[in-house]
Amino acid sequence: MSKVTEIFASNVFNDCVMKERLPKATYKALKKTIEMGTALAPDVADVVAAAMRDWAVEKGATHFTHWFQPMTGITAEKHDAFISPTSDGKIILEFSGKELIKGEPDASSFPSGGLRATFEARGYTAWDCTSPAFIKDDSLCIPTAFCSYHGEALDKKTPLLRSMEALNKQALRVLKALGNTTTTKVTTTVGPEQEYFLIDKAMYDARKDLILTGRTLFGAKPSKGQELEDHYFGSLKQRISDYMKELDEELWKLGILAKTKHNEVAPAQHELAPIFSTTNISTDHNQLTMELMKKVAGKHGLVCLLHEKPFAGVNGSGKHNNWSMGTDDGVNLLEPGNSPHENLQFLLFLTSVIKAVDEYSDLLRLSAANAGNDHRLGANEAPPAIISIFLGDQLTDILDQIENGPATSSKLASDLTIGVTTLPPLPKDATDRNRTSPFAFTGNKFEFRMTPSSASISGPNFVLNTIVAEALSEVADRLEKATDVEEEVKVLLTELVKTHKKVVFNGNGYSDEWVEEAAKRGLPNIKSTVESTKALLSEKNQAVLEKHGVLTKVESESRYEITLEGYNKTINIEALTTLEIAKRQILPSVIKYATSLASSINTITAVGIGADVSVQTELLKEVSSLTASLNKNIALLEEVVAKADNFDGDIYDLGMIYRYEVFEQMNTLREVADTLETIVDKEFWPLPTYSDMLFNV
Ligand code: ADP
Ligand code: MG
Repeated sequence: MSKVTEIFASNVFNDCVMKERLPKATYKALKKTIEMGTALAPDVADVVAAAMRDWAVEKGATHFTHWFQPMTGITAEKHDAFISPTSDGKIILEFSGKELIKGEPDASSFPSGGLRATFEARGYTAWDCTSPAFIKDDSLCIPTAFCSYHGEALDKKTPLLRSMEALNKQALRVLKALGNTTTTKVTTTVGPEQEYFLIDKAMYDARKDLILTGRTLFGAKPSKGQELEDHYFGSLKQRISDYMKELDEELWKLGILAKTKHNEVAPAQHELAPIFSTTNISTDHNQLTMELMKKVAGKHGLVCLLHEKPFAGVNGSGKHNNWSMGTDDGVNLLEPGNSPHENLQFLLFLTSVIKAVDEYSDLLRLSAANAGNDHRLGANEAPPAIISIFLGDQLTDILDQIENGPATSSKLASDLTIGVTTLPPLPKDATDRNRTSPFAFTGNKFEFRMTPSSASISGPNFVLNTIVAEALSEVADRLEKATDVEEEVKVLLTELVKTHKKVVFNGNGYSDEWVEEAAKRGLPNIKSTVESTKALLSEKNQAVLEKHGVLTKVESESRYEITLEGYNKTINIEALTTLEIAKRQILPSVIKYATSLASSINTITAVGIGADVSVQTELLKEVSSLTASLNKNIALLEEVVAKADNFDGDIYDLGMIYRYEVFEQMNTLREVADTLETIVDKEFWPLPTYSDMLFNV
């Protein structure tokens, strides 16, 4: 392998390349835009474009593309060659500032949620110079935002960028009110830990459900699951290790700070975590990571599954969104320091986050909702669908003190002694972990653990940035008016703790008692994606998104439509695939097996020696009865699918039909098929089983 330091970011037009290749004045102007958000002059863009083209062509690129993130949740790209004809029948390679700054892909085939009438096809992509351009597959990729003809956001990036500006503005107000005169910028930072499954390509190819829906719609529980807990952090098998090595290398070339890799809890499950970066770049990088995870798998005869729940009864995948706020002078605003009770700035930012999460928990819940995650949230492997915050002993103790007046002490962590004199004493963290909490403080950041594995992290982060910006703006309003700021901070802290401590919960989030307790505290428990979408219609939520310039009311409403539409289509595809597999693969196979049992009974009986055929007879009866039940459930599923298909009412009501009728009937049908799988001769079973898929790499 080439030296890591040499390959790192070798395909990225980053600061170092810009400094080297751009004229000084151009570099300065561009840096100012990137760092201070000032508008970019067109002549600067021309110079940058030419430098980018030369750099890309030297690296073998032939095309460029505006790389954007439509509401499908995946990325989109349309490649144009650099070629331009000359009068003598040859070509030159061109790339103008105009082409760098603006693109015009046809927007009509991307989800717009009613933002665009059918006849309005125009959409624009606009260069996001805060995320560096890169080369992928011989194309120069320009990260861009995507909007409609009238400027409404049609993508995941635009609201994220808007929310970062909002948080910057409000955080600076608070810092200034606290007497800080040096900080000029506050950015949110994110490190997403990405979970994924790897299975053998041949197994995948034999499963229509995996190909069409990303998850198994059938499959009995294997005799071995994850109960031995022998996969978590287990040593890597050679094929997996080779895969991870190549993946790291590909990610490093794109400047992605891939850092940690390990086997996860479920068999065939793994994780990759990067070092955190600013939210926008981290979001782009996570999209690229997911893309490369799939692509590199192909080279190893593997398939990477990013679905939240590819296998029933086996842990699914999530993404832990580690989030914090940092200043341009290097301060992590969520760093408690050695005596957090005296660190009023930290406490103010901390309680602002608590307030934000408490007041807008429905928006956060929505930001983690998709059809795949519905299998996890509230089930016994992922945080419950109830949003609460884990703070740990030390901070909870400080908040308790604040509730009744100023805090006077911080519980300190001791050293840990292991009882072996040759082992060094270990400094202990002030607080233990709690893996059952959806929103956990982990030392100097919050870990939002509900995020779905397959989705863009833009949603959770633009919601977090916006709601925290709102909490900070209310704090700033108070501090800016106060005559004695320190006194006002203390009053504010007590108020914030009193009002919002109900969202703090340090206990076991997986327990039934918590569900009851949360209901008593008035915390919402939003069951599925369908119900969660209502958060986008509430006046309070629309107002906060609009106030901070993140989404207009119309944009919120369009996202409501897009989320429901996506959900309904997903369940519809799953139901149709369930029917196809049940009718054309399982039913015929089971009938063949029953016929073979009947033949066996006939043949043996015909020998005329009175041999016992009771086993075959019993089995035939059982198989026949389950087959009849399967057939009945196929008919019932067809009925509800037709009902949904013919329904012409409200999209929300249609969602409820998909969730509570179609989805439920899919599960009932599956149960019968899975029981059949456990008794039908493997030779006859048409699908690779769970143990075939989970234990064969
Ligand atoms: P664990 O979750 O097991 O504690 P780490 O401590 O390595 O693992 O952190 C997990 C992720 O959190 C990593 O991606 C890391 O870069 C990220 N992280 C660390 N500090 C911050 C921060 N200030 N802001 C955002 N993410 C952070
Ligand atoms: Mg973690």
